[in-house]
This record gives sequence, C-alpha cells and structure tokens, in this order.
Amino acid sequence: GVVVGRRLRSRRKWRRVVGVLRELEESCETPVGRLKQVVDAMAVEMHAGLASEGGSKLKMLLTFVDRLPNGLDFLASNLICCPRFVVCFCVVCVVLFVNLLFGFVVRSEIGTYYALDLGGTNFRVLRVQLGGTRSSILSKDVKRQRIPQHLMTSTSEDLFDFITSKLKQFVEQEETVSEAAQSRTRELGFTFSFPVKQISIRSGFLIRWTKGFAIEDMIGCEIIERLQAALMKKGLDMCATVLVNDTVGILALGHYYDADTVAAVKIGTGTNACYMERADAIIKCQGLLTSSGAMVVNMEWGNFWSSHLPRTTYDIEMDMESPNPNDQGFEKMISGMYLGDIFRRVLLRMCEESDVFGPVSSKLLIPFVLEMPLMAAMHEDDTPDLKVVAAILREKLEIQDVPLKARRLVVKVCDVVTRRAARLAAAGIVGILKKIGRDGTGGITGSRSRSDAKMRRTVVAVEGSLYTSYMMFREYLHEALNEILGEDVAQHVVLRTTEDGSCVGAALLAALHSSSSSSSEG
Ligand code: BGC
Repeated sequence: GVVVGRRLRSRRKWRRVVGVLRELEESCETPVGRLKQVVDAMAVEMHAGLASEGGSKLKMLLTFVDRLPNGLDFLASNLICCPRFVVCFCVVCVVLFVNLLFGFVVRSEIGTYYALDLGGTNFRVLRVQLGGTRSSILSKDVKRQRIPQHLMTSTSEDLFDFITSKLKQFVEQEETVSEAAQSRTRELGFTFSFPVKQISIRSGFLIRWTKGFAIEDMIGCEIIERLQAALMKKGLDMCATVLVNDTVGILALGHYYDADTVAAVKIGTGTNACYMERADAIIKCQGLLTSSGAMVVNMEWGNFWSSHLPRTTYDIEMDMESPNPNDQGFEKMISGMYLGDIFRRVLLRMCEESDVFGPVSSKLLIPFVLEMPLMAAMHEDDTPDLKVVAAILREKLEIQDVPLKARRLVVKVCDVVTRRAARLAAAGIVGILKKIGRDGTGGITGSRSRSDAKMRRTVVAVEGSLYTSYMMFREYLHEALNEILGEDVAQHVVLRTTEDGSCVGAALLAALHSSSSSSSEG
C-alpha cells in the first residue's frame, strides 16, 4: 500500500510539471498561418509608422543615410570570375560615368577611421584602415569590453567618461608615433543602438533607453554633443561624423560586400531591423530630398506589437517587472536579454508545482540570473545523459541532483522558448520583404500573384549572438522563412552574416560622410 501510494504521488508530480510544459507549448504555438498574420501586421505597421509620427508602435526612424558603401573594388574582383564579365564591366562603367556627370562620385573610402559601438552587453572600439583606389578594408582592430552593470543606470557623464577613456587608451595603443604626431582630426562613427530621433546624419536625440539601460539625465539629449564634450575632456582630438544605429552599420557592411543587400537585422541582447526605403514612401516627411531618392529607415522593430503574437503569462509577468513595461514587446519575445528570463520563470513555475527539481532554489527567484549563452548550452547539450544541463542547473541555479527525465524537460522548455523567438524573427523579416515587394507576392497590396512576380535576389544582413552562435535558433529561423515564403521564393532570399558590422559599418559610413564630403542633412 505504501509503495503504491508513493508511486501515485510521484506520477501526479510528473503530470503537474508536464502539464506546465504542455501549457507553455500551446501558448507559444506559431503555426505558419499565425506567422503569416504577423508578417501582414508587420507590413501594415511599417506603413502606419511611415505615414505619421506616432502612427504606429513601430517608430520607423529616419537615419539620414541615403547611400551605402559600395566596395566597388570588391565587386570588380568578383567580376573577373563572372562569365558575363564584359556586360557587367560596361554596366559599372556607365554607373561611374553617370555618377561623375551628376557630381556625386562614388567616394573611395580612404584613410583611417574609428568607430565606437555602444548598445548591448558589450561595447566596442574599432580602428579600420581603408585602402586607396580599391576602397577595401585593409586592416581592422576591434576591442570588446563588457559594460560595467552600474554604468548602465548611472549618469550620462559616468557612462561617457568610461567609454571615451577606453577609446583614448585604444587610440594610444594603436597609433604609431608618426600617426599621433599628425595634426589631422581623427574621424569617428558612433554606433548608439537605442531609439534615437535623428535630425541629420551626425545629430540625434535619445527617445528612450532599452536593454536594461536607464540613465534618466540622458533622455531627450543630443548624443553627439555629449560624446564630443567627453572627448574634449579627455583631450582626444576626434570628431564624430556619423551617428548610427547598429542595424544601420550592419546594413552598410552588408551592402559593402554585396550590393543586393536591402535590409539588416540584429538579434543579440536586443533586436531591431533597418532597410532601404524609397524617400517618397516616407510620407511623414513629405518632400524629403535625398541624392539617391531613398533612405535607410531604422524600424525599431523591438517595439512592434500585434494581437497575433503568441503571448504567455510568463511574458506578461516579465514585462510588468521589467524596467520598461509595455515597451519593446517584440524584443522581449525574441532577444537574448529576455529569453533566459522567460525560461527561468517557466522553471520556477515547475518547481512550485512539484518537487521533481527538489526544493525551490532561491537563485531561481533572481530576475535575469540565467544568461542567454547558458540557455543555449543547455538546449544544445548533446551528451547522452545531459551533463551540461546538470552542471548549469547545479552551478548557476543551485538546483542539485536533477533526474535525467527532469533534465529532458529543461531542454524541452529551452526549445519551446527559442523556437517561438526564431520563428517570430523570421516573420518579422518576411514583413520587411513584403513591405518592399520582395516576398514574391507583389508587396503589401498583393496586386500580383506569386507566379508572375519575378523575384530578384534579395540579401538581408544578419548579426547578433542568437543568430551567429546559437545553431538551433538559426535553424528554426531558416525553417520558418522557408515555410512562410515557400521554397520557390525562399531560394532568392539570402541571409548573410556580417562580422562586427555595427562598428565596421559605422566606420565605413564615417568615411563616406567624412567632413570633406557632402551629406544629405535635414
Ligand atoms: C534598440 C535598437 C537596437 C537593438 C539591437 C534595441 O533594444 O532599441 O536601437 O538596434 O536593440 O541592438
């Protein structure tokens, strides 16, 4: 009788935790029909955000980047291998001639440029050397460092003092004596990856913070002014010539390597996308003149919202307890800062429902205690007895001696949370393709059928640790893209990873818009 009773109790315990998992699976479901609704909602919101200021949760911010680095030399070196070399060569010559005729020569990005990249968990400084007539990246040195947690909620003065002192150290290490002796002011691209209202390519005001940053005195302030003041304080002769979002840097680098690149996506600590839009489609800025007739739009898609998004009680609770409730709804379902915390909340619920994980660990009560790389490591644990899962639960969450069956549940929770994130990101990407008529359906009006829409090769540059270092995430994203677009269309869509695009791209844009060149302002 005692044994039977024990067995029954144990079965009930398991049923309860499995029940939590099933409930999670149901509320995270993303069948292709639902993803297509998200795609449509994204395209509709993009229109609304372009139509009027505040017309949508998607801010669709102007960047004043109206041309992208072209890496012509790179193109040329590829052309040699192309069987239609002669045709391509002629096209390039005509393009160059037309450019010359209209006085906006495709600049050769020459010289040494710096970039400062502030946005996620890490901040980076970079020096890049661009070469003469071939405008290629000759050398690049990047230094990454973690931003001390306290600086993310301190004062703007502390933050800028910190980043400029690191920049100064970097410049001193990198420069030769003769370089340092030159009187030329160094040029810098500043990547500042938060929602910014730009008024020109080198000026913008912080709208609000995301990703755990909360420095009150900075909201509404002009960013380059703050940076220049801090640089001056450090006695560093440097001029910030461009202010860009990380996605814009990624697009610039993506385009530099591949001229078919039309959009860029970042899926790291936070998430966002930008793309090249026709100037006349940016209705909220009527009469916007750009030399190319187009402009890169920073979507700030992290703040996208639609009733079609599969939201769980865990998402709602996390949002309420976050530093920015009701903001960045899409980001909170997709990006690295939040996935670990959704996982933690599910596990906590399982622990509360039953003791299959032993007593509730106090660590599980700490928000954001589990960082993304650890969740990815558990998800991708390929040891037969899930040793990695056991070790992380033990060391990070102080949950001891978890039976194998329960460790399998842990992997399953990671899978559900990550799969939903990746599939929603895929839907976001197709939303952009739809808006610019590259999804094979003839754009948002759907005026052309799939069959008569001729698909052009379309490249989307992608960066961020979730996509680059988390294989399961990347696989799920690709799978969903194929499901939504269908194989026929998906074969024309290339997701291409760039490396350090947020800062290398910013340096390329600094070169393109260097103080001696013209830029489209205002
Ligand atoms: C910010 C964006 C940024 C993205 C990726 C978001 O939280 O609002 O500006 O591009 O994170 O870093």
